[in-house]
Amino acid sequence: MKITVVGTGYVGLVTGTCFAETGNEVVCVDIDKSKIARLSNGEITIYEPGLEKLFIRNLKENRLSFTTDLKEGIKGARIIFLALPTPPGEDGSADLKYILGVAEDLGKILKEYVVIIDKSTVPVGTAEKVHAAVAKNYSGEFDVVSNPEFLREGVAVDDFMKPDRVIIGTSSERAKKVMNELYAPFVRSGNPVIFMDERSAELTKYAANSFLATKISFMNEIAQLCERLGADVDMVRLGIGSDERIGKRFLFPGIGYGGSCFPKDVQALVKSAKEADYDFSILNAVMKVNENQKKHLIPKMQRYFNEGLKGKHIAIWGLAFKPNTDDIREAPALYVIDELLSLGCTISVFDPEAMGNVRNLLKDKVQYAESQYEAIQGADALVIATEWNEFRTPDFIKMVKGMKNKAIFDGRNLFDMNAIKELGFHYECIGRGNVQKINQQL
Ligand code: NAD
Repeated sequence: MKITVVGTGYVGLVTGTCFAETGNEVVCVDIDKSKIARLSNGEITIYEPGLEKLFIRNLKENRLSFTTDLKEGIKGARIIFLALPTPPGEDGSADLKYILGVAEDLGKILKEYVVIIDKSTVPVGTAEKVHAAVAKNYSGEFDVVSNPEFLREGVAVDDFMKPDRVIIGTSSERAKKVMNELYAPFVRSGNPVIFMDERSAELTKYAANSFLATKISFMNEIAQLCERLGADVDMVRLGIGSDERIGKRFLFPGIGYGGSCFPKDVQALVKSAKEADYDFSILNAVMKVNENQKKHLIPKMQRYFNEGLKGKHIAIWGLAFKPNTDDIREAPALYVIDELLSLGCTISVFDPEAMGNVRNLLKDKVQYAESQYEAIQGADALVIATEWNEFRTPDFIKMVKGMKNKAIFDGRNLFDMNAIKELGFHYECIGRGNVQKINQQL
């Protein structure tokens, strides 16, 4: 099948590559000329485990190509995916200018029946808006389908190739047939393709992300309570997670959720609710908890350095919003860095994949280390902001030798409390560690 993917970012590039991998002929279109030039030359533009190998293979076999020319890109296509940004507008609602702009452009150049697919996360009613935008200039036949994407950065290829489920919102039998054919190779082990109307599909995506964000904020509040009541959040997590209704996953407290999806999608759903005259009170609380949680380590550091943080040199391990990606959009690490800079600290940072993106953003505001150990040289404290695997069992002897002062503020609960304290570190994390103190008081 000939497929066009418009927008070649995290979702578009994975989508295009994975459809090429199942034998389709895929053209990816983007307005970013340098991105398209690099991709055409075989240079991958994002870090995503397993993607590069598939990308190179399909490029070599001519199943995957790239262009900045939309007209050229859609020639002969049966399916056109829109994998475009939907950033928050000033009022928090999803900004549809990219989607509707491309939809209008498509209307001017379409010549035959196509299925246009909203892959982006878009508010309820967008499929109708896209339909109207195309129809402004095109009177031929076409269908608009809502097919939200559920891949997770860091495991995006696996998620795409073996999805838990595929959600397809359409009222057209013709489009349904095309979608069934397209996704058949991805659901051979029996995971469901769930067909529904467009509006329900659009809402499903927001409901999923908002539910997951709620789980995180809930656990962050439980962690706050653990710190105050002398309980251990790891124990509570294990205790509740073994209840099948709750489940073991997504119960880890930390320094807040980030990334390009949860913050903007929760915000957009609250806004959609408001427009429908409904106050989504749980989600308002979820956002508030998350804002506070991103700064949770700062008061701990202030208490520890009771003479103040001014002039302290702080190392940061982890900048990406989560491990196995170079994506720093809304990354909690950036909030911690901002706060520490405003308190007069100097900062040395390290991340296995996100250094380039942070360098572009923060320029010379921080120092960039070549390794996790270089980052801690002469540091008064280490902050762990992302749970990369290589931070989990570091060379503690090297750390003891390198740091000026042995203090770790761990936003991801990576270390065994007792082991790290035996090594002489002052160690603070999220929702653990006050149990002993309280027991001593009793
Ligand atoms: P992205 O910013 O990484 O990529 C978007 C791409 O679209 C960019 O390369 C940009 O240059 C391009 N673009 C902008 N305007 C264009 C135009 N007029 N024509 C062609 N290309 C254009 O965004 P993303 O992370 O891939 O997200 C895309 C959508 O998918 C968003 O709605 C997002 O919410 C949703 N989504 C993202 C993820 C994720 O993990 N990143 C997961 C599921 C859903």
